[in-house]
Amino acid sequence: MHSTRQPPLSPEALAQVNTALRRYWGYESLKPLQAEAIACAMAQCDSLTVLPTGGGKSLCYQIPPLLDGSLDVVVSPLISLMKDQVDGLRESGYPAAALHSGMTAVERRATQGTLRAGEIRLLFVSPERLMMEDFLGDLKHLAVRRFAIDEAHCISQWGHDFRPEYRQLAVLRKHFPSASLHAYTATATPRVREDIVGQLQLKDPALLVGCFDRANLMYRVLPKTDMREQAAQAIARHAGEAVIAYCLSRKDTEKLAAWLQARGVRAAAYHAGMEPEARHRTQEAFADESLDVVVATVAFGMGIDRSNVRCVIHTSLPKTLEHYQQETGRAGRDGLEAECVLFYSAADVMRWKSIMNKPPAEAPEPGTEADLEAARKIQLELLRGMQRYCTSARCRHKALSEYFGQSYDRPDCGACDVCLDEVEEVGDGTVLAQKILSCVARVGQRYGVGHVVSVLLGAETEAVRRAGHDGLSTYGLLKDSTASALTALVYQLVDQGLLARTEGEWPVLQLNEASAAVLRGERKVRLFQPRARLRKRTARGEKSMEGVDMELFDALRRWRQEECKRLGIPAYVIFHDTTLAELARARPVRVEDLIGIPGIGERKQARWGAAVCEVIAGRVPPGPVSPSP
Ligand code: ADP
Ligand code: ZN
Repeated sequence: MHSTRQPPLSPEALAQVNTALRRYWGYESLKPLQAEAIACAMAQCDSLTVLPTGGGKSLCYQIPPLLDGSLDVVVSPLISLMKDQVDGLRESGYPAAALHSGMTAVERRATQGTLRAGEIRLLFVSPERLMMEDFLGDLKHLAVRRFAIDEAHCISQWGHDFRPEYRQLAVLRKHFPSASLHAYTATATPRVREDIVGQLQLKDPALLVGCFDRANLMYRVLPKTDMREQAAQAIARHAGEAVIAYCLSRKDTEKLAAWLQARGVRAAAYHAGMEPEARHRTQEAFADESLDVVVATVAFGMGIDRSNVRCVIHTSLPKTLEHYQQETGRAGRDGLEAECVLFYSAADVMRWKSIMNKPPAEAPEPGTEADLEAARKIQLELLRGMQRYCTSARCRHKALSEYFGQSYDRPDCGACDVCLDEVEEVGDGTVLAQKILSCVARVGQRYGVGHVVSVLLGAETEAVRRAGHDGLSTYGLLKDSTASALTALVYQLVDQGLLARTEGEWPVLQLNEASAAVLRGERKVRLFQPRARLRKRTARGEKSMEGVDMELFDALRRWRQEECKRLGIPAYVIFHDTTLAELARARPVRVEDLIGIPGIGERKQARWGAAVCEVIAGRVPPGPVSPSP
């Protein structure tokens, strides 16, 4: 693989690109690596483009067929995302279509008609559909020039979202020998890259890897003490803004959503077990901004999309950093500042381990045991990476960049809990640890975390009484603490290897050699807790809200929301927040002044221009806007 060979775009091509950019999207220039990716596509040389979420991958495959009038195919894993993209493109006047299983036969035939008539530049398909015999046959007649494989990491077991149906894409090369293949992903670990190139049989591909650091994201990893309260605090830091909170199980999402609703937050649960209709309603409400907080399972966040998500909360540990990067990637896609906060507890590591170590529900097919074992080892190793990220006190931006194979030179990112010194050390960690450890010893190393915590708190529970533990010297030894804070501390000891927790269904706490050293006073212990108050936002936005008339911005958002409701379309199909912010900064009141505002192309100018100017005119005081010198 190499990263330099593809010929650069000719000046004529570049001019064409810029015209298309302005006409369909209202953008002024390309983002990093977009020109290179487009150049590869134009020269029909295979490529793998790795850009972080929000990096602008879609444009790389949307522009080329416009330039040469070809039909290109995009393989995309999720119907909901596919539909959103096609709707958005059509709204801008771009000739795109999709074929997927969610369509009626009539709709499919209509689409096939427009395809044959040569009216479509970009066709979105799911991998399952693409691989159907007769579909492949149809496509061959349509002379597809390029295939864009979106979310290409789905082809790799080392990615975070392995989809077996992606493996079948290996046959594309054979069926379409004259088409070029262009893979796109946001997952950048070298192993995933190699897998993509190998599986798709990319020919001497150009490798284009963007900068992985998301400078506009503020990363926080906080010891999990009281998850719901902590989540509520994070949401309060973003009142009235879009938030996604991830939970491990469906039940968790429902409980948290209900609890938030009871506190007056516009929140709803979202998971694969819901009725499709209810799920759809939630998705729409989030898109049209009548819903602020979606509480989703990690397995199922992909369908919910909004470019102005201001906060992503992980109420429990993702199982890999690839997942984490992908899920946090949904924050701040518009380039404005956003927060990503993860509540960490070693209990979650153990939960994952026990899930991964469980024997499969069905006996594996003969001969596949070794594969399963290999997959399990991969999972555990990726989990360790996630755990290391949480437990090390290194700059989060740096740690993430390096994990994804890039160096990060800034000594202080100014946008993570570590650099901002937001986690504080608990008073005397060693003494506290000794108290906890001796309680474990007193209960005979035969009880779990909950019980040990109860004893230390001096709780008057049936279990404590029955065991006679209310008579222990450690009973009530830490009665000024709280159950959640103490639980967090116990798990920190486990995490640091100073206390053991058995595996299995009823795990109990046990002392190990390190515990003994702590009890003898030979080993110092440091324990941490989150600071009481966190600052709201500190990340360096690629674009900031400086100079934006916030009242006007809110008025524009209200206008957009009414339009969404009225027309039943998602907010971003009208304008992204960045466009509204720019409008609220420049305050144009004439439709002709709207060209040049990023995100407003010809089509949108014609469609929404007058309405927007009316909102702005209603807010701009008559006479000169700025004070005269
Ligand atoms: P990705 O698929 O890499 O996550 P998208 O293709 O969804 O990213 O692009 C993210 C956002 O950036 C979208 O709102 C898109 O319209 C915008 N965008 C893409 N290219 C440009 C550009 N050249 N200038 C300004 N905005 C852009
Ligand atoms: Zn940092």
